Amino acid sequence: MIRFVSTRGGIAPVAFDEAVLQGFAADGGLFVPDSIPVVSAAELERLSTLDFPALASELVSRFVDPAVIDHARLRTLVADGFRAFDARDVVELVTLQGSGGLRVLELFHGPTLSFKDLAMGFLMNVVDDLLEQRGERLNIVLATTGDTGPAAAWAAAGKKRIDCWPLYPLGMISDAQARQMTTLEADNVHPVAVEDCRDGGDDLDLVVADLFGDGDTRRELKLSSVNSINWCRVMMQAVHYFHAYFRTVEAVGDPIVFSVPTGAFGNLFGGYLARAMGLPVARFVCANNVNDGLHTAITTGSFPRRDLVQTPSSAIDIVAPYNFWRLLHCVTGGDSARIRRWMDDFTARREARLDDTTSRSLRDIFASAAIADQTTLDTMRSVHSESGYLLDPHGAVAVAAARAVASELPSGVPVVCLATAHPAKFPDVVARALGGDRGLPAAARHPSIENARHACQHLRLCSLEHLRSGLAQAMRRQIVRRTDG
Ligand SMILES: *Cc1c(COP(=O)(O)O)cnc(C)c1O
Repeated sequence: MIRFVSTRGGIAPVAFDEAVLQGFAADGGLFVPDSIPVVSAAELERLSTLDFPALASELVSRFVDPAVIDHARLRTLVADGFRAFDARDVVELVTLQGSGGLRVLELFHGPTLSFKDLAMGFLMNVVDDLLEQRGERLNIVLATTGDTGPAAAWAAAGKKRIDCWPLYPLGMISDAQARQMTTLEADNVHPVAVEDCRDGGDDLDLVVADLFGDGDTRRELKLSSVNSINWCRVMMQAVHYFHAYFRTVEAVGDPIVFSVPTGAFGNLFGGYLARAMGLPVARFVCANNVNDGLHTAITTGSFPRRDLVQTPSSAIDIVAPYNFWRLLHCVTGGDSARIRRWMDDFTARREARLDDTTSRSLRDIFASAAIADQTTLDTMRSVHSESGYLLDPHGAVAVAAARAVASELPSGVPVVCLATAHPAKFPDVVARALGGDRGLPAAARHPSIENARHACQHLRLCSLEHLRSGLAQAMRRQIVRRTDG
C-alpha cells in the first residue's frame, strides 16, 4: 500500500490518514506518495467511460489504504464533495466557435465559482470522517487572499467535527470573495477580517505560523494545518485532466496538451501526477502572469524568489509556489537532499539553481510563458469579440500562454486551456478588459454573487496587532460552547 514521505526526507513514511491530518510533514516538507500508481492502457479505456465522480473515486482510491477509509465509504466522500456543483458532470469542456476552435475546460462550477471547489469538498469530507473515527474535533485556521478561504468555508459548512476560521486582510480581497465567506449561514464557519495588514496575506501567515509554532497553544486549541498543501487536494486535482482527455482525443492513447494558469503549482502538479499515472499528455504549458518565478525556473534553471506584483489575475500572484517542490521531488527521483538544499537556498538566498539534468527534464514536460497584464486584458477582449465567450482573467492567461508558445508544441495535437474561475468573480477586470460603457455582459454575472450582495454579513473584525490573542480567545469560547452543547 502507498505510504507518504516528506519532500525533505526527514520523517518515517506515514499512512494516508496521518498525511491528511498533519498537513505539513513534521520536518517542514510536503507529503508525497512513496510511489505513483500507474494506470495501464486497458484500464484507461475502461476509465474513459466513467462519469466525473466515478472517475474521481477510481483514481483517488489508488492512493488510499482501504484499512484507513474503506473504498465504498471513499466513493461516498468523493461524490458528496461534488454535490453543490451546478454542471451536469462537475466540469464543462467547451469548444469555441471562432477564436480558432479554442478548447476551454471550465473548472468553476462549484459553489464558490473557482477551481478550488473541486478538491476542497472532498478534503473536508475526508477530514471530518477521520475525526469521526477518532472521536476528535479540529479548528482549521487558514489565511486567505483569494479563492481558498471561500472554498474552504463552503466545504467546511455544517461539518460535525470541524470549526473553520478563514482569516483575510480587510480591503485586500474583493468584496465578492469576502461575501462568499461572510454571508454563509453555518455556525461552524467563523470568518475574521483583519485590519492594518500592510503586507496582506504575508502578515496573516506570520500570525498563523506563530500560533502553530507554539505546541501548547496548538494542542489546547486543537489547531490543524489542514490547508492548501494537503495531499487530498493534489490527488483530486489530477482528475479533471483525465476527464478532459477522454472527451478530447479521438482514440485513447493519442497525445494532448494542457495550458494551466499557475500560481502555487497545485493544479499543474495534479496534471503532472495524471501524466505520471499514465495519461498520454505530450506537454503542459505553465502559464504565469508577471509573477514569473516558475517560467524563469523552467526556461533558465534558476528559480528566483521575487517580490509580489499585483495583477488582474490575482489568484496566481504567488512568489513561493510550494507544490513545485513536489514536482522537483518526483523529477529527481526523490532526491530529498537536493530538495532540502534548493528549498533552503530559495528562502535564504532567494534563488535555487537547478542542475542541467533536472532543467532538461522540466523542459521536456513543460513549456512556459509569462503573460503581461495588458495581454491578459487583450485576450479577454479579443476572445469575447470573436466568439462571444467571456474568459476570466486566469483562463485568459492560459489562452495567451498557449498562443505564445504555439511553436514549441507538437503540431496537430489538441490544446485544452484551463479556466479556473467564473468571470463574475472579477467584474472590475471584465469591465477594464471589455472597455466601453455598455455595461457588463450577462456572462459576467452569477446569481450566487448577486444574492450575496444583498445578504447580511457576519464576521469578526480584529486588528492585526491583537489577532493572535483575539483569535485564541474566540476559539476558547467556541470550544466551551461545543462542550456545553
Ligand atoms: C488557486 C487558483 C489558481 C492557481 O492554482 P495553483 O494550484 O495555485 O497553481 C488559478 N486560478 C484561480 C482562479 C485560482 O483560484
